[in-house]
Amino acid sequence: MSTKMMNVRDLDSNTKAVTKAINAKEPSENVLTLITRLKEGGNPTEEMLRSTKAGVIIGKLRANENKEIAKAASELVGRWRKAVEVEKRKRAGPSATPAAAPAASDPKIAAKTSPAPPTARAKGEPYKGDSENRKNKTDGVNINRTGSSTRNACIGLMYDGLAYRSSESIMDVLEKAVACEAAAYDKYGGETQDYKKKLRSLFQNLKAKTNKELGQNVMSGKLSPKTLVSMSPDDLKSSELKKTEEKLMQENIKNAQVAQETRSISAELICGGCNQRKVAYTQAQTRSADEPMTTFCECMNCGKRWKFS
Ligand SMILES: [Zn+2]
Repeated sequence: MSTKMMNVRDLDSNTKAVTKAINAKEPSENVLTLITRLKEGGNPTEEMLRSTKAGVIIGKLRANENKEIAKAASELVGRWRKAVEVEKRKRAGPSATPAAAPAASDPKIAAKTSPAPPTARAKGEPYKGDSENRKNKTDGVNINRTGSSTRNACIGLMYDGLAYRSSESIMDVLEKAVACEAAAYDKYGGETQDYKKKLRSLFQNLKAKTNKELGQNVMSGKLSPKTLVSMSPDDLKSSELKKTEEKLMQENIKNAQVAQETRSISAELICGGCNQRKVAYTQAQTRSADEPMTTFCECMNCGKRWKFS
């Protein structure tokens, strides 16, 4: 059996071509050629079979009136099912609990003969493993969704960020990760520095201890991938963190007001208005504690006010 990994786009386009050929009642050789091409394309993952519905579509052909097509479809589905089993066993490694293994063994994935309902992209099984340590590697996800290794790595990064602390299914997290990467790719004009910077920043925000809601909002759809990739660093911060900063700001304003009475005249500062060294100043932490202090200045000679940090 080939261990080559199939490209999801090839799988999708070939499967669509099979459906088209069947519906158009094309000669059986055409259908058989397409099935052979799918067979030679390598082994798809469970997620790929689900997202392209290839398992269902080819599974249906096992009942085709043409015996050759039925036989070829049967062989292909059998091969795919076996590959999914192998993959599942591989991912249920020593660290994975039985509950953490996704429902890859479900024979319905490849063997279902009735077509899925029209709206069906069934939500995957909720994740039951250790969500604190979820990553694309531990989830056994194939992140190779594009022809670019950079983009694929970014999809992996988004997956790791979104999966962290989430009990959403592997399929759902993967779908969002792909959509977020694609949105950033569109917004920042391809694999640019801004694109990479944005995805790294999103990953860090998703992994932030205080920012649990960010990933939840993306997964629930409250925050669209398009909006997510357009958010400023400040918007990405959690409301908890924003409240803390707001409180710090308020305290500093209060402190600065108290300090007004006792502010000192600097020997260093020169007024840009009158060039005199009669500048009174106070300092305050206006942002988070790791950012530099802001110095508020007032010229005692001409009254000019300014600030710097
Ligand atoms: Zn002055």
